[in-house]
Amino acid sequence: MIKNFKEIIEQLKSQIPIHELISEYIPIKKAGRGYVCLCPFHDDHKPSLQINSQKGIFKCFSCGTGGDLITFYALINKKKWSDSVPELAVKYGIKVEYSDKGASPVETEIKNKLYELNRVVLDFYKRQLYITEGKTALDYLTNERKLNNKIITTYELGYAPNSWNALYNYLTKEKNCHEELLIASGLFVIKENNQGYYDRFRNRLIIPIFNENNNVVGFGGRALNNEDVKYINSPETLIFNKGSNLYGLNFAKNEIKIKDYVLLTEGYLDVITAHQNNLLNTVATLGTAFTSQQARLLTKYTESKKIMLCLDSDFAGKKAVESIFRQIQEISKGVKLDVRVVTDLPGKDLDESINLEGVESILKKINDSQKLVNFVFDRITSKYLNAKKEQNDIEKQTIMDEIVDIVISMADPIERNENIKYIAHKTNLDEELINLKIKEKVKSNKKRHFTKESMGKEPEEDELKMHSYERYKHAEIDLLILYISSFPASNEVKNEINAINFIDEKHKLIKDFLDNLPTEEFQFQGPHEVLNKLILEFNEYKHIMNLISEIAWRIDTEADLFSAPTKKDKIIREAKESINWWVTNKHSIKDLTTKLKESKNTSEESDILVQIYELVKNKKIIDT
Ligand SMILES: [Zn+2]
Repeated sequence: MIKNFKEIIEQLKSQIPIHELISEYIPIKKAGRGYVCLCPFHDDHKPSLQINSQKGIFKCFSCGTGGDLITFYALINKKKWSDSVPELAVKYGIKVEYSDKGASPVETEIKNKLYELNRVVLDFYKRQLYITEGKTALDYLTNERKLNNKIITTYELGYAPNSWNALYNYLTKEKNCHEELLIASGLFVIKENNQGYYDRFRNRLIIPIFNENNNVVGFGGRALNNEDVKYINSPETLIFNKGSNLYGLNFAKNEIKIKDYVLLTEGYLDVITAHQNNLLNTVATLGTAFTSQQARLLTKYTESKKIMLCLDSDFAGKKAVESIFRQIQEISKGVKLDVRVVTDLPGKDLDESINLEGVESILKKINDSQKLVNFVFDRITSKYLNAKKEQNDIEKQTIMDEIVDIVISMADPIERNENIKYIAHKTNLDEELINLKIKEKVKSNKKRHFTKESMGKEPEEDELKMHSYERYKHAEIDLLILYISSFPASNEVKNEINAINFIDEKHKLIKDFLDNLPTEEFQFQGPHEVLNKLILEFNEYKHIMNLISEIAWRIDTEADLFSAPTKKDKIIREAKESINWWVTNKHSIKDLTTKLKESKNTSEESDILVQIYELVKNKKIIDT
């Protein structure tokens, strides 16, 4: 049994872009925000398979096949979904941990041993800072970084000696540590000839990374020599997961509660300098993309859910803001986060800025911080205006698409309206024009999803279906999307959906599954997490996976359709109508369709079609 099955899935989904995996099998092409390619699951002649890398899903709009990257791997290699998980883990270097039943006490024991080991290692590194060899490191901290002794001691900074085996020898000879534990710690690297190990951190300033409970979970090492890679970190271990940790949180959590906001920055030394200057509510990501787990960690300590981004002022820092923005858009469907960007820092990062102008000026910049969404729109609209100057129509169009996509992804209609006003103001475009663009986009997204979704059917036939007797199928899918996108659903929505008897068996299955999900787990994660649970549950059933991928796709592209309160009512009302209608008329419809199949000539056929249309047209009268 694989012990870290769920963790592997999470890591695969967060770390491996789905288009990368797909492109190993079929050539892909960039299209809008995603990619397209020929579908390998049916005889495809135009690119029907669309890839949404941000959501990590693919969907063929011709044969209906869809799912996440694990689904793709499983289908193309004709394997079971659950068998594909460890295979992909091996492929991408993610550790697979196997366990026997009842192995968890052992796991706890190993974890405790690793905490203990890291403590011993940290004490070793700390001592090295104060011997002759560590002088360069100590000088660097005090002279270049302007850190005082108190802060160096409190944050337990250390030094890894310039040796291949100083730590290894210390631990094996003086501390009698077992080799297995040393390997599990991630502190050692296996030699190329497989003959033994060497120290991972050499001639580096050592910054210990603590978890919320002050255990040492890993280490960051900063080069003291310009030729070396600037930063290296401990690899992921049993006790160290970068995506679910934030540097400095153990020191910052009380102050975050008091100030009711978090200052989020990029580097260890940014945090330490900030803390030395009384910006004690500062934490840093550990060189990874901002994750929902980190957002959850942060919001746990604030009422306001306010996060101030204080990222490097270079291009990479600005790109990081945009990626955090996309991540926040996803997270914020479950919880409202108030994210702001601290701009115009005098230095290249927070650390340098504090040393240049002092903390007062930073506090002022924090006060003047800009809403994240405005920051992102400012960047995009300035790109738009620059393109405008050069009369570059195609580029303008692409940028406009980008803007429209962001607006569509906003769940709150008020927020959306405010932002349309903001963009109009920034670009000098008419608000109505932007609204029109949004409508067009939503319509074309919707059309694309509705017309070609049934397997191997001609679009015309689907059009007919959609407008007629099988409308309940679409209505039920709409209800499921409404259910998932409003998760954890209010009792009102839940009760209303519960009062409806679903007809389609697949839809019923999904609805039952949603009814039984413990809602308290979803406070912060929102629809994305619900979809992951669905995939985890139904991954071996292709027809249900296709349905889930359609839902995932539409939650992404039509978020606004399902968020407005009036739309909710409309979706529920229309669903009730079409389901009732089907229940009342299914026998007549079934009779007529059987007759239609058996009809001998076109005039007989059109006669029956007319009867079907009569039934459909009278829909309102039959409904009660
Ligand atoms: Zn296909």
